[in-house]
Amino acid sequence: MRSKGQVPNSKGSHKTEREFGGTLGAICIPILLPLTVLFLICVSRSPDAAVVQWPPPFPSLDQLWDPLAPILLLGWISLHAFLYLLPFGKVSEGLVLRDGTRLKYPINGFLSLCLSAALLTLLLMLKAPLGHLYQLMLPLAVCAMGISFVLSVYLYVSSFWAPPHALALGGNTGNPLYDFFIGRELNPRLGHFDLKYFCELRPGLIGWVVINFGMLMQEVELRGSPSLAMVLVNSFQLLYVADALWNEEAVLSTMDIVHDGFGFMLVFGDLTWVPFTYSLQAAFLVEHPQALSALGGATIIILNGIGYYIFRKSNSQKNQFRRNPKHPSVSTLETIATATGKRLLVSGWWGLVRHPNYLGDLLMALAWSLPCGFSHLLPYFYVIYFTILLVHREARDERHCRAKYGLAWDNYCRRVPYRILPYIY
Ligand code: NDP
Repeated sequence: MRSKGQVPNSKGSHKTEREFGGTLGAICIPILLPLTVLFLICVSRSPDAAVVQWPPPFPSLDQLWDPLAPILLLGWISLHAFLYLLPFGKVSEGLVLRDGTRLKYPINGFLSLCLSAALLTLLLMLKAPLGHLYQLMLPLAVCAMGISFVLSVYLYVSSFWAPPHALALGGNTGNPLYDFFIGRELNPRLGHFDLKYFCELRPGLIGWVVINFGMLMQEVELRGSPSLAMVLVNSFQLLYVADALWNEEAVLSTMDIVHDGFGFMLVFGDLTWVPFTYSLQAAFLVEHPQALSALGGATIIILNGIGYYIFRKSNSQKNQFRRNPKHPSVSTLETIATATGKRLLVSGWWGLVRHPNYLGDLLMALAWSLPCGFSHLLPYFYVIYFTILLVHREARDERHCRAKYGLAWDNYCRRVPYRILPYIY
């Protein structure tokens, strides 16, 4: 079934309906997002860490550049490209593409995380100054932005050599600014090396926890030992990244892989936004230590545990159901039929709200901010931004599902009226 406003053309599929504010969004977002990243890093290390201050704490040019930054960043990306290519772990097939074929993907991201941890341990034993990552945050972020722009230009240009069926449904509008931003090609590859799949879960995501660890080491240098708040932030976020990589196969059925083209939006998100804004809580704690009681810490651990439980159980339930609906763990759940032949769960986690996985994710996001106390807004940036992202993402997914499942989706919405938060939203 084709959604309203979608017009096919000879080059694949055109879609007139545009997301993220259309052309205006495609012009403004690539300018505003890099400035936001620099601004937030500067705020996190400024003495009062105030999000609203005049003049805003922008960096001087010499703070933005360090010759070590491109070496470290390119070395890191190359290391992960090498690990991606190692012939270990299983090889999985993605969902069926429009031409009826399925791409193969190596499932060895967790191994990459373990080898990265082994490398960090080795560097620690060699007494490498890992806390120096704190001083390098701005130059590293600038280099990540440069790499994101260069890669996005390459992806846009190379997409013109891709066959029509390889283009993303929403990324082939003919407007160069919008297509550059949203991504033309669905699964750009260099030989067997899948650029989108690689960027989604590896250099940026693992880079995020490495930056966190650098912040922890900087705290050790400054104050002799890591604080409880820093240990919690590091542990919670490491659990999140390890979980994503342990369940790497599940990414193959996400909106990012299945639906979105690979353009500036995803490239910047994966390589710059995630590592340099998701690590803000740890960066904040370096200059703004927080006293956290054992009881406060225990309460936050419980909150993170509940969030993680909901997040993991609901994601696993849907993945299991999509992979094998006859599996004993899901075969007894109530479902409704759709015209596509696929069924929708209406009991279990997916009968509670339409996005139980987002609910769990948001509870965890809150637990990552709470160790930073209540005196500043900055550590809550992630949970605020993430709420906006997931509400927007839910609306996008809802549109796609309504287009895909029609009346069956409306029926599901009637049966499960709340989107993310039971009885509230
Ligand atoms: P979801 O895993 O929520 O998948 C949505 C898809 O699930 C729908 O398109 C539909 O696809 C299927 N579905 C929806 N309802 C049902 C149902 N009742 N029964 C069966 N299938 C259903 O997509 P996301 O990619 O948005 O999220 C994946 C995870 O990643 C989430 O936990 C999210 O919180 C997290 N996330 C984290 C981000 C971060 O930056 N930390 C960013 C984005 C996401 P179909 O029917 O075709 O199978």
